[in-house]
Amino acid sequence: MITEQNRPLKVVKFGGSSLADAAQFRKVAAIVREEESRRYVVPSAPGKRFSGDTKVTDLLYACHAKAAKGEDFEAQFTEIRSRYDAIINELSIDISLDADFERIHRAFLNGAGSDYAASRGEYLCGKVLSVYLGYDFIDAEDVIFFTENGQLDNEKTNRVLSETLTRHERAVIPGFYGAAVNGKVKTFSRGGSDITGSVVARAAEADIYENWTDVSGFLMADPRIVEGARSIDFITYTELRELSYMGATVLHEDAIFPVREVGIPINIRNTNRPADRGTMIVLEAAEQHNGEHGITGIAGKKGFSVIDVHKDMMNAEVGFGRRVLGVLERFGVPFEHLPSGIDSMGVVVHTAYIANCREELKREICKEVDPDSVSITDGLALIAVVGRQMINNVGTAARVFLSIANAKINIRLIDQGLSENNIILGVAEEDFEVSIRRIYNEFTVR
Ligand code: ASP
Repeated sequence: MITEQNRPLKVVKFGGSSLADAAQFRKVAAIVREEESRRYVVPSAPGKRFSGDTKVTDLLYACHAKAAKGEDFEAQFTEIRSRYDAIINELSIDISLDADFERIHRAFLNGAGSDYAASRGEYLCGKVLSVYLGYDFIDAEDVIFFTENGQLDNEKTNRVLSETLTRHERAVIPGFYGAAVNGKVKTFSRGGSDITGSVVARAAEADIYENWTDVSGFLMADPRIVEGARSIDFITYTELRELSYMGATVLHEDAIFPVREVGIPINIRNTNRPADRGTMIVLEAAEQHNGEHGITGIAGKKGFSVIDVHKDMMNAEVGFGRRVLGVLERFGVPFEHLPSGIDSMGVVVHTAYIANCREELKREICKEVDPDSVSITDGLALIAVVGRQMINNVGTAARVFLSIANAKINIRLIDQGLSENNIILGVAEEDFEVSIRRIYNEFTVR
């Protein structure tokens, strides 16, 4: 029996492209109305309507920059206003934003901060959407809080938000912002409405957090490299972290933490193809949700360098590695991987991070550990092959390496994490795309 306590509840977040214009608003409303359970809605600000268009958030930042310099910002301001007017008029929504725009205009003239400026995109979008849907409006600055050092205040947010939600059967809560300790509006980093959605899902104790965007979930590989790459049905949070870190982006990195803690799955869905099931992000995938391919996905990035430190008998020198890494620490350079041999130690870093200190780094390493040689090789690309099914599964690595070897590509580095759910390999940047295609084909083409 479905009671008040156990009836299904979904929190649905819509990205900027899902709310770019009136036609997109109609799709959003149809999706929300299709299921009773979609009771809390978190919108972004209207995004691009076509390639080359400007997102409302970017217009707001530009407008604010002009206002802050004391320059005339009327043209941008009017453009922002016309985006909302077009949506309101086309949908014949009974709402006037006159007073809001007047207040925002005044705030710009009176030196409002850029966070306040940017947040108005979501605020206004939320107001319009709430009237269109017939849902209550909850201003995010009353329910989402940041700490003194600018992090999300989990405890206070969860307490106030969950208490507030109990008083609203159905509501729209704008994404991207909340209130700082001093009461002023503060935003998350760009793309932060994903985090709001996650925070609302946790506070509402939702069964699922649906994140609606313009792709049907995560793909097994970057479609710019692998044409027609298949989508991933189920992915664990851990796999997602690994793929995202290596370049696959659909969701804001920080959006997974609030829901992961309490085990609420995230479903990435496509507003333009609502029948697609999208990708389900879960804590642990059941056996039957393991895909047929043996791996979950492949991602990668270019722009890495290897610092190669060579010294005979290095393996017997206690503290060698610590001293090399200590030098990197002093220069503020994080490292990615540490492939090492008996007499050599490699440190893989982002090339950009050492751009201004290459020679000093080498000099300091020489001083610190007196090696036989130190060299830096650029032009390395890293590829992560990720999959929970690799654990205790014989043969995945062999297939990865063979597929690349068959293309006569030299593998410069191999690293398999102890968690055994990823294999990282390094290849020359010019071999990057081919390597990814080879691995993808190995696991998908029969
Ligand atoms: N509108 C904000 C941005 O463009 C936040 C978001 O869309 O999530 O970054």
